[in-house]
Amino acid sequence: MITRYITILSFMLIASCDAPPQKDAGKWFKGNTHVHTTLSGHADTTKEEVAKWYLDRGYNFLILSEHNQFIDPATVSLPEGRREDFILVPGEEVTDEDLVVHTTAMNIEDLVPWNTDINSTITESIQYHVDGTIEHGGTSILNHPNFEYAIRASDILGTHDLYMFELYNGHNEVHNFGDEDHVSTEVMWDDLLTHGMKIYGVSSDDAHHFQTLSQNHSNPGRGWVMVRATELTPASMTDAMSNGDFYASSGVYLSTIESSSNYYAVSVDPIKTAEALKSPVLRGKYVRDAKEGFKIEYIGPEGKIFSTSYAESAEYAVTEPMLYLRVKITYTRAIHEGGFEEYYAWGQPVFNPGP
Ligand SMILES: [Zn+2]
Ligand SMILES: [Zn+2]
Repeated sequence: MITRYITILSFMLIASCDAPPQKDAGKWFKGNTHVHTTLSGHADTTKEEVAKWYLDRGYNFLILSEHNQFIDPATVSLPEGRREDFILVPGEEVTDEDLVVHTTAMNIEDLVPWNTDINSTITESIQYHVDGTIEHGGTSILNHPNFEYAIRASDILGTHDLYMFELYNGHNEVHNFGDEDHVSTEVMWDDLLTHGMKIYGVSSDDAHHFQTLSQNHSNPGRGWVMVRATELTPASMTDAMSNGDFYASSGVYLSTIESSSNYYAVSVDPIKTAEALKSPVLRGKYVRDAKEGFKIEYIGPEGKIFSTSYAESAEYAVTEPMLYLRVKITYTRAIHEGGFEEYYAWGQPVFNPGP
């Protein structure tokens, strides 16, 4: 039985008792894998100022993911005397404009090619990005599949060596939640997982606008990941995410998330969540009718919900073999226009759990 997650709380308790840290004990690092700069020609802030925005707000890592441009972190000057626990992970948003296939190439050594002429299908284009990214030392994240509703689950299923995709993206035009004719990225995720694909869900900003804040701009601070690792390096962040040692958030913080081959448990962090939800730029999902407060759902194949709790912590013991089990935490609040908004944290799936 392998414990993939350990709580910050228990780590702190262990540390405060002077007991030796557990072998797999780790810390949580907050990161954003997707953001743009003036180098793109359509974002409003320089790479230095973009990096400083995240540095000043407690993030631990950032990928400056520019369209078909590699930003070497060595070329980005950060303020003198800055805190040490902030790094830039080298990256690029590999962008096939014709087929609307965008991927974040995480922790690459240099520029990944994006040649659009040689691929005739979306599946081929995704695979071209994935293979090119691996050749250049990195790992791919498939970005915003519902941007222009370009990518369907069936396009992704034909690929290999892809282990992450953007379940949530803070850009205001990417349709995370679908519409009457298109499924949400989360429904797409369950489709992929139900077909046996091993793929984790990422949340990112894809911010372009730092100077004007509104729901109609793509602002920073809307989507992030919390990654568990023993050290903060570009490789450790990439490895941990590739192994599913993270959760994705659009506003909800967790204090505990741990899983094993037959067990999954989470607790929310209500104080940090309340603090996060004060931000004016978050983008919740509008729902007409809902119950305010936290909800924890354990979800398996075909998106079936196995248990629902309205407490601030919940666990699930697996009593029969299943293909995968994941957890989704929702925070719902009323909005003054009427109706409600939902914010989420998504735990990564555990594969083939069983009693
Ligand atoms: Zn993109
Ligand atoms: Zn982008």
